[in-house]
Amino acid sequence: MPSDSETGPDRIAGTLQPGQILESISDAFVAVDREWRFTYLNAKAQQVFGMKARRLLGRCCWDLFPEGVRTQGYRRLHEAMSEGKPVRYLEYSLRFAIWYEVDAYPHADGLSIYFRDVTERVAAEQKLRLHERALEATVNAVVITTGRRHQYSIVHVNPAFERITGYTAADAIGKNCRFLQGEDTRQPELAILRALLSAQQEGRVTLRNYRKDGSLFYNELHVSPVRNAKGHVTHFVGVLNDITETRRYQEELEHHVNHDALTGLANRHLLQDRLQQALFRSGRRELQCAVMFLDLDHFKLVNDGLGHHAGDVLLKNVASELITILRPEDTVARFGGDEFVLIASEVDDLTDVTDIAERIVSRLSVPVIIENQEISVSASLGIAIFPLDGESVEELLKNADAAMYHAKERGRNTYSFYRKEMNNSISEQFQLKSKLAKAVEQGELLLHYQPQAASSSVALVGFEALIRWEHPDLGRISPDRFIPLAEDSGLIVPIGEWVLLTACQFAAGLRNEGEEFGRVAVNLSARQFYQATLAKSIERILDRTGLPPQCLELEITESMMMGNTERVLSILSELKEMGIQLAVDDFGTGYSSLGYLRRFPIDRLKIDRSFIDDVPSSQHDATITRAIISLAHNLGLGVIAEGVETRAQLDFLAQNGCDEIQGYLLSKPLDESDMREFVTSNLSSVLAVAPLRH
Ligand code: C2E
Ligand code: CA
Ligand code: CA
Repeated sequence: MPSDSETGPDRIAGTLQPGQILESISDAFVAVDREWRFTYLNAKAQQVFGMKARRLLGRCCWDLFPEGVRTQGYRRLHEAMSEGKPVRYLEYSLRFAIWYEVDAYPHADGLSIYFRDVTERVAAEQKLRLHERALEATVNAVVITTGRRHQYSIVHVNPAFERITGYTAADAIGKNCRFLQGEDTRQPELAILRALLSAQQEGRVTLRNYRKDGSLFYNELHVSPVRNAKGHVTHFVGVLNDITETRRYQEELEHHVNHDALTGLANRHLLQDRLQQALFRSGRRELQCAVMFLDLDHFKLVNDGLGHHAGDVLLKNVASELITILRPEDTVARFGGDEFVLIASEVDDLTDVTDIAERIVSRLSVPVIIENQEISVSASLGIAIFPLDGESVEELLKNADAAMYHAKERGRNTYSFYRKEMNNSISEQFQLKSKLAKAVEQGELLLHYQPQAASSSVALVGFEALIRWEHPDLGRISPDRFIPLAEDSGLIVPIGEWVLLTACQFAAGLRNEGEEFGRVAVNLSARQFYQATLAKSIERILDRTGLPPQCLELEITESMMMGNTERVLSILSELKEMGIQLAVDDFGTGYSSLGYLRRFPIDRLKIDRSFIDDVPSSQHDATITRAIISLAHNLGLGVIAEGVETRAQLDFLAQNGCDEIQGYLLSKPLDESDMREFVTSNLSSVLAVAPLRH
């Protein structure tokens, strides 16, 4: 476009000159000659440059705007000038913070240059590009559909949609999003989605969707309407969020909260719920519901003896047995430790419950092999019936527990139905436990000693320490009652240590007085036996009291020695190496195995009182007693009979070669001063005279 510095707007007025046209346009316009000197600037150009034309005209534009040198514009304008062809380019001016679209037209005198401010357009384009880029890059699948009038058909999906669903854009476009639900069209949240769409509202739903390969994913879908300038909804944008992992995690968390990690059974928490539901269902149909409380017998022995791993295997085993015995709709829960609770709901005949209980007891008493060891645990089961024995969850659990204790008292490996009077004995036990804790501190415990003598000469060979509890109000409490409680609560460890120390002190005292009495026997409980510190603690006690180790005998029961043979062997060997004597108490009542008798460093077997009771009148017991005596001798072990009350028993034992006896015939357990007198006055010799003459 030709221009002429003479035809400035100030000079020519009236007619619409080309210059005037140039003045009126909103773009900046300049003309330069071939030496790049300004020959014309319109008003807009002057405004943008911030200078009047007279200060610019005739001056080289590159001198005035040196920052323009070396830019794209510089190159393109020179191109236009030298090659004589128009150019167009887009340029950003840092100085004016403006995007220009520049058009330059060459002519004989130089160049005419238009600068169009396109800042807004560029910004809009950039924004759009940014949105597009974001849409492409987002991890969430985005789907854009038409509005209702066009059936919500898909018009756009982003790459994440393709990645998550497996469907390509080509697969999806034109379809309704419904195709992601497959056959699974009865989802509660679909109604919510439909309501949102028809109300043209924004909202969020979670749907089960299916990928192209058919696999399920949980889609947390956020939909929002897109409105046009008139406010009409033309499209919907859906953001699909694949929350399958989160969902799975949540489910796992829920499972974790409600289930026992080891066995996978319902835990206490879920049990409460299930029982509540079972009671509700049973009540509505006027049926009964059985709550069974199951506790494994002697589980602690397995755990302590064979290690926790074996204990875990055993518990899992029990769990799977229980599941097979109950109906699928019933609940088996692990209540804690070795306790399980079973719910049989909607029972119309109590013989069904008896059947289940009998099956459980018999199935669990079958020995299992764990880590190459044959292990038998049995179970004690207590049963409470809704609504007979209680109507609430708490009451039924409590009463089933009481019935379970009763089953234990009846000798374990059995079941008991709840009866009202049971609860009294439970709370009594509870009270006793807390009283026992105080008994230790308050010195209510003491030891009695029961003499042991040779069968042939009735000469004193030792005495057994037997614990006594004298409660200020309750009087004397039998160790048969409180020792199991002490085992349960762990109190047996300090109590056992006190027994050892007291017995050793007493025995060492007698020896210091010059009395010969043989050995002092002390009973060990299972918990004590498996204490890692046992040997050390005994060593300390022997050191402190000065009692020679061969004067101490430890009584261990057979059941304590079952289980981890290696561990038992190492404990016994350690004690034996210290010089201590070892006796097997209550022999004949446990899991007799000749194998362990041969391997373990044992000195003596103690024939259980139950065999001696009916000797010699019972042929059967006489045979067993004789067998035990000869077994012991064959293995090179000594043998002592406990509970010898009569002369006839003594004679029988002496004749059959039993080495030693203990029992009321010789003496009842004596307190310290009576025992001292027994030793010093050699009272057993009184008896000795008689049998020799006999
Ligand atoms: P045990 O070790 O079998 O003790 C023998 C039990 O038989 C004692 O009962 C004793 O008094 C009783 N007895 C002794 N001779 C006769 C008799 O001729 N006829 C009858 N009918 N009974 C006789 P006790 O003292 O009541 O002890 C019961 C159980 O308590 C003991 O059985 C033992 O297992 C446990 N015990 C006692 N003291 C301790 C202790 O210090 N530590 C541990 N861990 N347990 C102990
Ligand atoms: Ca004993
Ligand atoms: Ca015994």
